[in-house]
Amino acid sequence: MTVPRKVVAGNWKMNHGPEEAREFPLGLNIGDNVTAHVLLFPPALALAGLRAGLESAGLAQRVHLGVQNVHAEDSGAFTGEISAPMAAAAGARYVLVGHSERRHVFGETDGDTLQKVAAVLRSGLTPVLCVGEKLGEREADRVEEVILRQLDAVLGSDTIRSKVASGDAPFLLAYEPVWAIGTGRTATPDDASAAHQALRNHLVERLGSSVGRAVPILYGGSVKPDNAGELMEAPEVDGVLVGGASLDPDGFSRIIQAA
Ligand code: PEP
Repeated sequence: MTVPRKVVAGNWKMNHGPEEAREFPLGLNIGDNVTAHVLLFPPALALAGLRAGLESAGLAQRVHLGVQNVHAEDSGAFTGEISAPMAAAAGARYVLVGHSERRHVFGETDGDTLQKVAAVLRSGLTPVLCVGEKLGEREADRVEEVILRQLDAVLGSDTIRSKVASGDAPFLLAYEPVWAIGTGRTATPDDASAAHQALRNHLVERLGSSVGRAVPILYGGSVKPDNAGELMEAPEVDGVLVGGASLDPDGFSRIIQAA
């Protein structure tokens, strides 16, 4: 099972409630000429509203849904959390794991991302694993070390690696340098390509050539309608993960059209 390229994914973070989510698709402009695989990650409470809005707008087959986070357990006494089976039952197909805000605001560790990817795959959902270095790590020339460590924290598991390497479980990667997220500072296409190339080589090493080359690697970090096209043309950039600019349906549509 492979995910088509290019991928354009929108992460709404803690923005847009059920009503705004229901209305959002009315402003989307996804013509028949659009080939991008479009994903949206609304807050979990807005998923049903967005799903209903996509259905009324005739876009339910064009825009695929995901959640921004799940707990590693399937159920239990974890107040405030949602699980992967619940997300699947609510219509999500994708789950962001290891987003920089989860890692650096909520203190998630590499071990947590491993457990969460395992939960996501167990429920038949597709993980979008986010990796990225902080500014100090880039300045200390540690980009590859950090992002490959974050990737290996997950692919180091024999169970996960063999599941993904078999080709049965789609897997996406997002390179999101922490210093570029929500800051208006974007990596240059060359910087993005260099990080993506390192990730690609590692994926091929760990998963074999065919699956390793099929995993889409998205770039995220202050992607806007006016820089999305040039980033998506850069070698090894298979799409974008968009935060702030995905909140406005018109701007998000322009990014989708640039893919
Ligand atoms: C993100 O949330 O993944 C992101 C890249 O945010 P922004 O586009 O706002 O930098």
